[in-house]
Amino acid sequence: KLAQIGVTGLAVMGGNLARNLARHGHTVAVHNRTAARTRALIGEFGHEGTFLPAETPKDFVASLERPRRIVVMVKAGGPTDAVIDEFSPLLEPGDVIIDGGNAHFEDTRRREERLRSRGIHFVGTGISGGEEGALHGPSIMPGGSAESYRSLGPLLEDIAAKAPDGTPCCTHIGPDGAGHFVKMVHNGIEYADMQLIAEAYHLLRHIAGYEPARIAEVFDIWNTGRLDSYLIEITAEVLAHTDPDTGAPFVDVVQDRAEQKGTGRWTVQSALDLGVPVSGIAEAVFARALSGHVELRAAAASLPGPRRTPLDPRDAARFAEQVEQALYASKVVSYTQGFHQMQAAGQAYGWDLDLGAIAAIWRGGCIIRAAFLDRIRAAYAANPAAPGLLADPEFAREVGEAQSAWRTVVADAARDGVPTPGFSAALAYYDALRAERLPASLTQAQRDYFGAHTYRRTDREGAFHTRWGGDRTEQRTD
Ligand code: NDP
Repeated sequence: KLAQIGVTGLAVMGGNLARNLARHGHTVAVHNRTAARTRALIGEFGHEGTFLPAETPKDFVASLERPRRIVVMVKAGGPTDAVIDEFSPLLEPGDVIIDGGNAHFEDTRRREERLRSRGIHFVGTGISGGEEGALHGPSIMPGGSAESYRSLGPLLEDIAAKAPDGTPCCTHIGPDGAGHFVKMVHNGIEYADMQLIAEAYHLLRHIAGYEPARIAEVFDIWNTGRLDSYLIEITAEVLAHTDPDTGAPFVDVVQDRAEQKGTGRWTVQSALDLGVPVSGIAEAVFARALSGHVELRAAAASLPGPRRTPLDPRDAARFAEQVEQALYASKVVSYTQGFHQMQAAGQAYGWDLDLGAIAAIWRGGCIIRAAFLDRIRAAYAANPAAPGLLADPEFAREVGEAQSAWRTVVADAARDGVPTPGFSAALAYYDALRAERLPASLTQAQRDYFGAHTYRRTDREGAFHTRWGGDRTEQRTD
């Protein structure tokens, strides 16, 4: 019997995906560069389903039904190219290579183009949910050709997470690098969500004066409302955890230096190229970077700051409610920015992305899964061409209702010296978007002064330049 699908690269992610496929009744060919890993998988989990282990690429390919479907789950970058180079000569037109690693979407575009010329479908696929997701149901974001999705979709939808309404968290995202792009933005939004939650914690700790266990209770309550999400849920668990060694709150024994593997940075780099403001994601990436600059922080540790006066309990409870509003409004802004980036990329790369469908497959399986995403799905269903989430009447109403509390929180944070780059940047974005006039008029005038970059007037058509160095007369330049 031949396998319906094969997985090569059997570390945590590949191993768990193979098991997920087998547990769903599919016959799965498995292969790993180092055969000991393949044997270990079969030894430990072989009873879970039908696996066809292979020790060489040739045997692996021979054990697959046609068109062959090969999931590559190896370290992203050079190893992915090495595996493609090793397997593609063994494949035929119509076969499908699925790269489930965290590839950069530009690499995926390059690989897809090269393999397409040989008739092989290359499906760069975002997979979110970590190792648990891979085993029990991830959110899956496949790119590549529509034709490849016809043969692959049913298998992937079978093993994907299911949203609360039962629909699979997997859809064909768009051609070539679209899947990996959308996964990248997912991760960027994840950075922003985590940063906002961290700021909310910091505010509750240092302005409301709550201990971590108390903040865990607050987060548990928030998790029953509109902030209901995986990240709020696990945050409450982390904050409620006590370090068994010292008896201290666990969050206090962890060094305050956050690391990153790069997808947040990629998101911001891409946003810069596309000219899309993703200040929430950028601040989250920078906040992690800042936390790691230990010497800079040590040198600044004695700089003066304000004296803080703890709030009395009634004011603290009110402040906590205001933080919920600020967190929610800032979250809406982060998603507005991330979805704007996907919309712009869809246009720039010719992907025709369905933003509502993307929100829908993030409702389950992935790290940012949240009740909120169904609202985004509904907003785009109502108006697929909406110029941003803030154009949706429901989101606009909620953010409008939250704005007063949001300002109080950002102002209190500034007054008390608690850094809130995420909350503050989100509020600045909101105010900039709604401003009737921006000081960009002055910026453009400055550009005309020193660089003769011209400007447009509010009162008539055309491009103009003022002779700043001369008689200051204005000339039309177009
Ligand atoms: P790793 O990223 O740690 O990669 C290990 C696997 O890559 C092993 O199977 C290893 O084989 C193989 N490998 C490395 N170099 C080569 C090479 N030159 N040729 C052939 N095989 C090679 O594994 P993970 O399971 O953590 O992740 C797999 C992919 O999934 C990565 O791209 C990762 O970014 C992505 N991902 C990970 C998530 C996670 O939560 N961990 C979530 C979503 C995506 P060998 O055993 O022979 O060394």
